[in-house]
Amino acid sequence: MPVCPCGRTTAKGQALNMDACCGPYHAGQAAPDPESLMRSRYSAFVLGDVLYLLATWHTSQRPAELMLEAGAKWLGLQIKQHHLRDEDSAEVEFVARFRLGGKATRLHERSRFVREQGCWFYVDGDML
Ligand SMILES: [Zn+2]
Repeated sequence: MPVCPCGRTTAKGQALNMDACCGPYHAGQAAPDPESLMRSRYSAFVLGDVLYLLATWHTSQRPAELMLEAGAKWLGLQIKQHHLRDEDSAEVEFVARFRLGGKATRLHERSRFVREQGCWFYVDGDML
């Protein structure tokens, strides 16, 4: 099993494998919290899993289709902070880095998440 691209580690700092991290969410299990959903969406970007990205996008903001940058090489995810606004809504601030056409880019976003019928969804985000 490959190491999960989201970079989550155990308390001891060991990298988690896909099957112990984002893999089950990609396979249909509901992510238990907004940070896990955020991480699994990052992993889906790395793996090119467009269907997962759309499925975890709240219907109010979900694009009709999604084209991923074919040449993007994802370099890592850093969760800066996450907090619940109330029981069913949350914000996660993250930095994702990728290289495209030889140029390193840093995506810094504060994302909004909501929970409906037990499932967390990405809504939208503000670039920081
Ligand atoms: Zn992961």
